[in-house]
Amino acid sequence: MDLNIEGLTIEDDGLTINLDVDVPVAPILENCLIDRVLSDKQIRAKYLEECMKQHWRPGRGLDVIHVEQNKFLLQFGHKADAYNVITEGLWTYDNANLVIQKISPGEVAKDVLLNNMEISIQVHGLPCGYVSEKIGAGCGAFLGELREYDSKNWVHSKYMRIRVEININQPLKRDMKLRTNNGKCVTVYFKYEKLGTFCFRCGVLGHTYKSCPMIYDEEADNGVRLWSNELKSSYKGSSIVKVNKWLKDSKTMMKEAQDTQCWNKMCLTIIPKSFDDNKVLKIDNWYC
Ligand SMILES: [Zn+2]
Repeated sequence: MDLNIEGLTIEDDGLTINLDVDVPVAPILENCLIDRVLSDKQIRAKYLEECMKQHWRPGRGLDVIHVEQNKFLLQFGHKADAYNVITEGLWTYDNANLVIQKISPGEVAKDVLLNNMEISIQVHGLPCGYVSEKIGAGCGAFLGELREYDSKNWVHSKYMRIRVEININQPLKRDMKLRTNNGKCVTVYFKYEKLGTFCFRCGVLGHTYKSCPMIYDEEADNGVRLWSNELKSSYKGSSIVKVNKWLKDSKTMMKEAQDTQCWNKMCLTIIPKSFDDNKVLKIDNWYC
């Protein structure tokens, strides 16, 4: 038996729904994001919601709906709040990175793949004269997909700063070899800004070496750790930090920022708020 009403078609083999005609649904979904917390700890939606409300301060409200494991729907009351969250850089919660993206009508929340994350990466050890957009594009392609080359990089920068979309299921890349004009091979090193929990054993985000899946594949831990905190940029903020987008507004400031101390001085640090006396929960944002 076939039935046809506006936006809904029922046939013998199933039901076809055209969401376009369901006007009330569209604006609600426009304000909705989907989020994955890259942690092997169990995240409680109630705490996450309270923490997000404290720090994002969505003017029209926010509901956090648990989807599965550490995946959540973030239903904002207004699209402006959702837009701010998704465009203001990389967020972390309880030292774990958050992967956040929009969800489209017709997508099944639990099936949405949240495998990519934008992160700011510093490229250290470049030979003199190699801080350039062209080299940035090459490094970006090696790391993932280049999203932005920091226009404040300049020829004598101590390191080159780029923003890259990386696959969070792949081991974090630590270094890359470059061959210069004179044929010399140089190794450059990567440091990730606002990097959350990751494994020193396999280099993948979201768990520590103690809960690494590799322990089930090996007879015994050989103790080899190819990854370490060296991968993190020297910035070690544990509270909320807010840094102006791409930070510097002159070459002088850029030079100063090359020094870690100066870099940190340029961060406006806000004391994190705790909403639970027994458990301090933090949400950090790195504006990049
Ligand atoms: Zn691991």
